[in-house]
Amino acid sequence: MKKAVYPGSFDPVTFGHLDIIERASKLFDEVVILVMVNTAKSPLFSIEERVRMIRDAVSPYPNVSVDFYQGLLIDYAKEKGIRVSIRGLRAVTDFEYELQISQTNYELSGRALDTVFLTTDLKYAYLSSSVVREIASFGGDISKCVPKEVADLVKNKFEKTVSKGQSNGCP
Ligand code: ADP
Repeated sequence: MKKAVYPGSFDPVTFGHLDIIERASKLFDEVVILVMVNTAKSPLFSIEERVRMIRDAVSPYPNVSVDFYQGLLIDYAKEKGIRVSIRGLRAVTDFEYELQISQTNYELSGRALDTVFLTTDLKYAYLSSSVVREIASFGGDISKCVPKEVADLVKNKFEKTVSKGQSNGCP
């Protein structure tokens, strides 16, 4: 059984993430999407909300499941017997950060956790959760960035503070 974990904040999950998930589901027997706490970011959605959104979005993939963890990825991976972490690369700007995380996990895990990088589909290269939050915060259209159910939840979060704008930065 080839198992992999795809960790991230997913705040919220985007079509960029889902593209990586779909491709990973074809490469591995089992893929666990792991919603984690990123101490460098203050989240829009709670972990429970993010897990629910991703569960709905990945329901077409029978070998993909969703979990959450408030700790180190290497500890989760060890607990579950997973040896591969998947990360997405959008541009050179992601590379330095991702390289550091990957090397740290490899060393900290006693060389038990490797990282496999999947490069983004070009049409999602500039799509990120923060771009989605930014567009939505000004009332812009995020329908091409995230699934409809996610777009509705994001819009609800900003409903009270929105001032209508015209932006549509999604692919
Ligand atoms: P984190 O806070 O851990 O960076 P994110 O939810 O922002 O979590 O991203 C999780 C992973 O998905 C990261 O490896 C990130 O590079 C990747 N990713 C994010 N957006 C895209 C995208 N549009 N295309 C491909 N990979 C992406």
